[in-house]
Amino acid sequence: MVRTRRGSPVSGRLLLISRLLMHSSLKKPSSFSTNTNEAKPNTTPAKHRHSSIPETRVSQKRSFEPTTHPCMMPFLSPKLDFEEVVLQISWQVCFSCSAKKREDYLEWPEYFMAVAFLSAQRSKDPNSQVGACIVNQENKIVGIGYNGMPNGCDDDLLPWSRSADDRLDTKYPYVCHAELNAIMNKNSADVKGCTMYVALFPCNECAKLIIQAGLKEVIYLSDKYHDTPEMMASRRLLNMAGIQYRQFQPKRTQIVIDFNSINQAGMLNGAPH
Ligand SMILES: [Zn+2]
Repeated sequence: MVRTRRGSPVSGRLLLISRLLMHSSLKKPSSFSTNTNEAKPNTTPAKHRHSSIPETRVSQKRSFEPTTHPCMMPFLSPKLDFEEVVLQISWQVCFSCSAKKREDYLEWPEYFMAVAFLSAQRSKDPNSQVGACIVNQENKIVGIGYNGMPNGCDDDLLPWSRSADDRLDTKYPYVCHAELNAIMNKNSADVKGCTMYVALFPCNECAKLIIQAGLKEVIYLSDKYHDTPEMMASRRLLNMAGIQYRQFQPKRTQIVIDFNSINQAGMLNGAPH
């Protein structure tokens, strides 16, 4: 019964915390010992204890088997019944998980590339959404951009097509690439010595901008147009200018933004976070 809870830690946590708060109304099982003289000593370090938990609950905890590391799910004796199991798991959530640093946080490169990809979602291009994020040497974002039509130019009137009999009826003569917009949107005096995170390897026109703006490095994710003349020219320019470029190797294939996550955890006994 207990081990089935491993698969859904977040929802399980909410359920269990609510059950903990309801604990005072639970009927004590006949096998549940509150005699602290007979109870086994609690071997869990005191620093993991939650100061706002009533002592009676802590005393009841002493009738349980000692656990492993507080942030691991409890290992329970099979003799415990359901109500005891609920209390045990609740105790684990209260005293341990909230005190341990997150391990699955975004590292800087993932974060900046994710910002570039999120920015790309602003693009109205039906075929290609590209974002770019410029970061200075202090890991501060100084510019973000995505592909789109120039300011003041109605993107309902300009074409978004990739091909047409007349090139003027395609998007290419008009659209501003993400790299251009990121540089032009900079919120610092310049972007000299900065790094650009970009979803696609920059074309030759963007390579010119990157060079002239003084960027020192380009970190891209996709190089799907590697063999086109534009990309070959781009590499030629970047190489000659001494600008580093390398492909980003993500540790995860996707990052999900869940607006509901802020409501799912972190509240206990009225204490935020
Ligand atoms: Zn470009």
